[in-house]
Amino acid sequence: MIYDAIIIGGGPAGSTAGLLLARAGWSVALVEKQRFPRAKVCGEFVSAPSLQLLRELGLDESLVQSAGPEIRSLGLFVDAKKIVTEMPRAQTSGYRWGRAIPREHLDRLLLREVAEAGAEIWQPWSLDEVVKKSDGFCCTIRSKESNEVNRLSSRLVIAAQGSWSRRSPFQLREPAPRPADLFAFKARFRNCDLSPELMPLVMFSGGYGGMVYADQNRTSFSFCIRRDTLEQCRHRWPNRKAAEAAFAYIQQSSEVVSQVCAQASLDGQWYSTGPLRPGVRSCGSHGMFFVGNAAGEAHPIIADGINMAIQSAWILCHCLIGPAPSGRIDQDLEAIGRLYAKHWRKEIGPRIRSGSLFATIAMSASNMWGGLLCEHLPWLLKFGAIFSGKTRTISHPTCPPSRLFVRSD
Ligand SMILES: Cc1cc2nc3c(=O)[nH]c(=O)nc-3n(C[C@H](O)[C@H](O)[C@H](O)COP(=O)(O)OP(=O)(O)OC[C@H]3O[C@@H](n4cnc5c(N)ncnc54)[C@H](O)[C@@H]3O)c2cc1C
Repeated sequence: MIYDAIIIGGGPAGSTAGLLLARAGWSVALVEKQRFPRAKVCGEFVSAPSLQLLRELGLDESLVQSAGPEIRSLGLFVDAKKIVTEMPRAQTSGYRWGRAIPREHLDRLLLREVAEAGAEIWQPWSLDEVVKKSDGFCCTIRSKESNEVNRLSSRLVIAAQGSWSRRSPFQLREPAPRPADLFAFKARFRNCDLSPELMPLVMFSGGYGGMVYADQNRTSFSFCIRRDTLEQCRHRWPNRKAAEAAFAYIQQSSEVVSQVCAQASLDGQWYSTGPLRPGVRSCGSHGMFFVGNAAGEAHPIIADGINMAIQSAWILCHCLIGPAPSGRIDQDLEAIGRLYAKHWRKEIGPRIRSGSLFATIAMSASNMWGGLLCEHLPWLLKFGAIFSGKTRTISHPTCPPSRLFVRSD
């Protein structure tokens, strides 16, 4: 069988693409290498525009049940300072504020919808290799449990495998390690002294982090820390694991975090990933499309990667699916790729660049200036939230009918 599309990765980007294409009548195979539910290094804040898109996908009832409270305030914790301001309201018709949704629930529910929409799910199977053929693609996949190998063919491939990874078949070149490389950690705590509707940004020299009330009295704390700062932490606390040493450093750097976590207890374990490679990558070409972090990764400081993953898949699928049949796919795929890239650059590109700017400010050794600025100009925090896409929903790309690709039978 030749699928209309093979999707690599069952995170928010891959599942959104799978759901939209399967509901449009496409034959879809989705390959996900991990069993769900699985833990993920992520702050888990889902913005209001994303909640709106998830509602349009028919998911909001089940998701909202597992979500934390509405996040109506933004904060900044720097040294002993705590600055709080209002979270700007989203301009969507439904949701005004975002909320945290544990990734175990979000990713599992999304993928379940994809299966119910008729897509074939290969899980836990991993993509080993993709080969371009004259009439499409051949993907070699491998079972993570039995090591069995299978080959799937399709007319196009959607790469939604997430962040840069050393072991990815899409990885071209491994960058040399640098002191500024960022490593990310995440854990959940019980009994944090944090207002349930506040999401603070934690600034410290050599990194930044974010806290959000997740669910059942649990607060999610995720942070990024430079390689050189992490090495210093490990040197200072040689008997602790990397995450614990870094957490000790953050508590020492920030009196407010230390107070918030004074009575807190770790719920579960620390998870880590890295080095992160934020930046704009590629939207793909010749029938291979990239969505989510695979197309471009924002610094976690803007807490908007889930939104961008869902939105990029949404944009691509609106370029692929249309009301009129196209005729020849090979003539149209390039045009669709250009259209997708144009909308991606408009909707997603600026948010990735603004994330890099905010991260540089937050991590600079003189982050006191950031704290001072926000103390006197708290609207800067709101401006950051608006600029990083927390309030605005995406416009639906409109495609000339002659450029649309509808599945062939
Ligand atoms: C510290 C930190 C905090 C963050 N906080 C937030 C936040 O609060 N809010 C927010 O919106 N974003 C946040 N993000 C960003 C967010 O987690 C990502 O942007 C988002 O998960 C990207 O979604 P995705 O679908 O592109 O990729 P992923 O969610 O990474 O999904 C990719 C999937 O592909 C699978 N895969 C990978 N390789 C293969 C393969 N070879 N074969 C088969 N399957 C494969 C993986 O197992 C994975 O399930 C944070 C990130 C970090 C690091």
